[in-house]
Amino acid sequence: MSTFQAPKGTYDLIPPRSANFLAVRDAISAPLKNSGYGYIETPGFEDVALFSRGVGESTDIVSKEMYAFETKGGDKLALRPEGTASVLRAALEANLHKAGNLPVKLWYSGSYYRYEKPQAGRYRHFSQVGAEAIGTEDPALDAELIILADQAYRSLGLRQFRILLNSLGDKECRPVYREALQTFLRDLELDEETRRRIEINPLRVLDDKRPDVQKQLTGAPMLRDFLCDACKAYHEEVRDLLTAAGVVYEDDEKLVRGLDYYTRTTFEFVHDGLGSQSAVGGGGRYDGLSEMIGGPSLPSAGWALGVDRTVLALEAEGIELGIPATTSVYAVPLGDEARRVLFGLVTELRKAGIATDFAFGGRGLKGAMKNANRSGARYTIVAGERDLAEGAVQLKDMESGDQEPVALDALVATVQAKLA
Ligand code: AMP
Repeated sequence: MSTFQAPKGTYDLIPPRSANFLAVRDAISAPLKNSGYGYIETPGFEDVALFSRGVGESTDIVSKEMYAFETKGGDKLALRPEGTASVLRAALEANLHKAGNLPVKLWYSGSYYRYEKPQAGRYRHFSQVGAEAIGTEDPALDAELIILADQAYRSLGLRQFRILLNSLGDKECRPVYREALQTFLRDLELDEETRRRIEINPLRVLDDKRPDVQKQLTGAPMLRDFLCDACKAYHEEVRDLLTAAGVVYEDDEKLVRGLDYYTRTTFEFVHDGLGSQSAVGGGGRYDGLSEMIGGPSLPSAGWALGVDRTVLALEAEGIELGIPATTSVYAVPLGDEARRVLFGLVTELRKAGIATDFAFGGRGLKGAMKNANRSGARYTIVAGERDLAEGAVQLKDMESGDQEPVALDALVATVQAKLA
């Protein structure tokens, strides 16, 4: 071990488990690529004000969890705690909303940073794959996003997840509800911090997990009863489209989510095998965000799915992704001359698209064969001076143990045919 360890709240992705992370990213992005979403990549840090304005001063993410810093040049930046604000900032900056048809559909994959109290499933550095559809108000778009996330999880074999769905209203009906809720909450017996929260973000109080708080919340006004007709109709349409698509969801009137920018549709994917950090992904509609960060009115919707927690969910369900061994062929030279020849053959096989590895370091046959076994390779090529004198190598089938000589110039074609 070295003197150094991964910083608190972080961990390294290491083979073979790291292959699951790649597979999860692929599985989540595949339905998006298949549905008109283009890939976007933004910097790992942004102007800190983008997040304080976009995500919201009153959220834990901004007020407590942001890695904010000042550069040597005096710029105030923050490591990104989430993806939506950055993606919208980039889309506006590139004028994507003016360049072509709306919605602008984008997907991303990357690292996010929150100064959280670390626990299982909650880290200071984590990874998300996300989707944003910018510039269109259409219940079918909200439904599309939920259907694609559902498809992603199902394609991984996940079954023990549930979709929670709610509507947070819009700028017409939410303020009316907010005030009614505040009036109700102000009469409760709550601690200082929660009382402060009533004034800045009362909907978040509904999210409080403490049983004594939950008990007092019985009889609280519910947003459902305050939704304006337009929001109600919109929400009904989203629900109908999901049902028609065969996507099962649960109405959850208390689902508010931790970011300020959501309007109307909000949803969360929870997994029942994960304990307290059960949210594997979430998202919703954010019609006001563009204006909040200085852009034009651009009603939009999106989601972000957590890669770390999705991998944990796979493990909780005991799902093996059946990722095939990456190496198909392993080359073991016996002696210096064979080393040079086989190394050349390895490059040829790789150029032909065959995943090949080589016994480096000049170890003996026994050690090299052990490595060949560990690599999961289907075939091993072994050659010594005598084989080479005959213009051949020995091709060994690692499953049956059969071995046969193959002429040097026929090797690539022979291996290709056997693997096909
Ligand atoms: P959020 O932006 O908070 O809605 O997060 C979306 C998803 O990202 C969550 O459902 C989690 O799967 C994942 N996520 C958020 N915060 C963390 C964290 N601290 N550690 C691991 N995963 C996280």
